Amino acid sequence: MNKFQILVVEDDPPIRKLIATTLKTHDYKYLLAQNAEEALMQASTYTPDVMFLDLGLPDLDGVEVIRRIREWSNMPIIVISARSEDEDKIEALDAGADDYLTKPFSVEELLARLRVMQRRIALLRSDSEVMDDPVYVNGELKIDYAAGCAYLNGEEIKLTPIEYKLLCLLARNTGRVLTHKYITQKIWGSAWDSNIASLRVFMATLRKKLEKENGNVSLIQTHIGIGYRMLRLDEWGSVKPSADQPPRTR
Ligand code: CA
Repeated sequence: MNKFQILVVEDDPPIRKLIATTLKTHDYKYLLAQNAEEALMQASTYTPDVMFLDLGLPDLDGVEVIRRIREWSNMPIIVISARSEDEDKIEALDAGADDYLTKPFSVEELLARLRVMQRRIALLRSDSEVMDDPVYVNGELKIDYAAGCAYLNGEEIKLTPIEYKLLCLLARNTGRVLTHKYITQKIWGSAWDSNIASLRVFMATLRKKLEKENGNVSLIQTHIGIGYRMLRLDEWGSVKPSADQPPRTR
């Protein structure tokens, strides 16, 4: 039996059943909730490891559920949204969701997202044993936080201060989708449209430097219209991109 426990919050019975059956087949422990009230109760009672959360719930907005959970918990939350709820999806990521699945999704994609979260939890747990690790390593990328330098394949990457800040922000949130708004607030302290335009420029130059040094392998994944994510290198090949987020760069 898989030791991870998953809370599935979905008001649509066929989808809830599909997820439950998938989890059961793969030996995951799970809890089901069909509205926000049940979700909040189950989350606080059982403190599951991961939560799948439908945004369109009958009693309370899914984004509000995320906000309430984030007041006391960092459990990974994977949002499930319909294509028409694209803006909600971004709001959900801003509110602290970790990832998203767009309906309709495949069972394989659901399981792949779950495996990524499991690896993240395992890493977080091992990271907490080596708190304040001054060096970040992800494949061939190394960041020496104390020295303020980044290296690829042992060579120092020449970065501007903003590129370096961006790289550190993405690295500290490896595996997480960071929205444009979240990033610009962290880097510039505001999220004006002009900052978002600048972000695109800085991100393009940062990626060019990283890819050139790394045999054109892309460490940073673009989520079109949403934001960016630093991939942990072993995630390559295990996460199939959904139809609306091709893994290409732009
Ligand atoms: Ca729904």
